[in-house]
Amino acid sequence: MAEHYDYIIVGAGLYGAMFAHKAIREGKSCLVIDRRSHIGGYCYTENVHGIEVHKFGAHIFRTNSKKVWDFVNSIADFIPFVNAPIARVGEKIYNLPFNMNTFNELWGVTTPEEAREKIKESAIPCEHPENLEQFVLSAVGREIYEKFIKGYTEKQWGRKCSELPVSTMSRVPIRLTYNNSYYNELYQGIPAEGYTEFINRLLRGADIRLGVNYLDDREALRRLGDTVIFTGAIDSYFDYCFGRLDYQAVGFQDVYHANTDNFQGNAVVNYPDAGVPYTRSIEHRHFVPTDVPGTIVTYEFPLGSYLNGGDPSYPILNERNREMYARYRELAEKEHGVIFGGRLGEYRYYAMNDIVEKFI
Ligand code: UDP
Repeated sequence: MAEHYDYIIVGAGLYGAMFAHKAIREGKSCLVIDRRSHIGGYCYTENVHGIEVHKFGAHIFRTNSKKVWDFVNSIADFIPFVNAPIARVGEKIYNLPFNMNTFNELWGVTTPEEAREKIKESAIPCEHPENLEQFVLSAVGREIYEKFIKGYTEKQWGRKCSELPVSTMSRVPIRLTYNNSYYNELYQGIPAEGYTEFINRLLRGADIRLGVNYLDDREALRRLGDTVIFTGAIDSYFDYCFGRLDYQAVGFQDVYHANTDNFQGNAVVNYPDAGVPYTRSIEHRHFVPTDVPGTIVTYEFPLGSYLNGGDPSYPILNERNREMYARYRELAEKEHGVIFGGRLGEYRYYAMNDIVEKFI
């Protein structure tokens, strides 16, 4: 362990690890600390019965940038994986995202022309949709909205679709081809040996201290380095002086099945029904092929506001939080020698590729 570091990096998630990786390549010294007992932040995967379990929800790396794809593959092998989730509505299964397969399953239409006609018939026009409900109704009509969107979204966000911004669904495409790929990006994959190993390799050359909460000992830890990279929650750094930023909290329940190696037949199943308490189930072994027996299925439960407990997952970008964040940001700008970064440090939803791209 060095006595003094160029950088003290608070948080061993992807942002902290990418920062460390770049700094080390430039000949700088880094101490990475994390309050958790493991590296990886929310990308953390754990090997359970020989299967890499995504402990904080499915992470599927995707990018349109060859540079980003080549970079991550230079660190670890990424196995190509195309996410083609299915939706279970009652006892019926539909393909996602909305595409010709879904339209065929729903309406029996077989050609793009027929689908276009049917969508046009169903759509409830609205020139300037102001909320998610108006947007979805105007794009695909009431049947799809009620079957696939309303229950799922209101479970996940704990609010009515009529109170949510249009942007909530900006990542979910509607296609008139028989293409079940959830994402449009050119390169998609999962690290063969798990995200924890990927992050571990990014952190090579850095000193690491786990189970240490920077905020509990900030004076002493700060003195160990020239610059602090703080990837924890920005409001916690400032002792919540303007109040607490809110997040949507998500809980996970892992179920091990020893007697089957294929429980649900797909990596991701969505449950749009309002009566089902979880939104998704993930069968991890379908992400990266493996020979081990047994399978692990994780159910994802929306837990509502993080202010009522749980871990901070999705930033809730409403007026209250935006304004509060702006005030914290102002303080952050004045905090000499500290850089705030990452999902919690910048209070924004980051896709993994966006973080990688910043540092290469
Ligand atoms: N969504 C939905 N039904 C689905 C899948 C997604 O209504 O079966 C909506 C929902 O509002 C969700 C949004 O699309 O919040 C974005 O979904 P995505 O899968 O991108 O969510 P994430 O992976 O970020 O949790």
